[in-house]
Amino acid sequence: MFQKRDLSAKKELMIVQHLVARGIRDEAVLRAMREVPREAFVAEGMEAFAYEDSPLPIQEGQTISQPYIVAFMTEALELSPSDRVLEIGTGSGYAAAILSRVVGEVHTVERIGFLAQQAAVRLREHHFDNVIVHEGDGTLGWPEAAPYDAVVVTAGAPEVPESLMRQLALNGRLVIPVGDAQHYQTLVRVRRETETRFLREELCAVRFVPLIGREGW
Ligand code: SAM
Repeated sequence: MFQKRDLSAKKELMIVQHLVARGIRDEAVLRAMREVPREAFVAEGMEAFAYEDSPLPIQEGQTISQPYIVAFMTEALELSPSDRVLEIGTGSGYAAAILSRVVGEVHTVERIGFLAQQAAVRLREHHFDNVIVHEGDGTLGWPEAAPYDAVVVTAGAPEVPESLMRQLALNGRLVIPVGDAQHYQTLVRVRRETETRFLREELCAVRFVPLIGREGW
């Protein structure tokens, strides 16, 4: 049986040792990482490991991402409180919950129906009311609610999907793992500078499950 008190001490240690010590500086991101209970998003029986800085298995062969990477990607999106964000790869719903504490509205798309439904229930139960969960192929984005100030993809793509670039607002940021191999990628940030000009930067090496769909694998 895990103890809630032990978890809050572990959470603070994880934030100081793995996030702050490794360079996460955005106060809004750190506050969100403190507020959102990761133990509510891990698989049953894994709660004691919720504040290890590692990915953990969830259902359907997928994973909940490592806290440091969630914080790093959220910071890399350069968010403001009024932003509207699109996340591709809802998984457990954890990253969407973090985003929802930093911005005004989050749309998140998951291709596996069971995970989308479970995440929607969990997010509602924990009152993350500004997150809207959609089921579908996120390589095509979610055009109904576009444009977005930021788009984040939490699965690895062979290249940056055109549809996601088109759904960015002017000065919008897209953060996405991209690589030729299905499980090793480079984290890339694309910024829409004008209607037709996009600036691309490489941020760091990452490992994600593959992004599967029309503009993915
Ligand atoms: N953000 C998640 C979290 O916080 O738990 C972790 C996501 S997990 C690393 C990647 C997710 O992307 C999986 O749930 C997978 O089913 C989903 N995925 C893969 N291809 C997708 C696609 N084309 N559209 C939407 N989701 C996709």
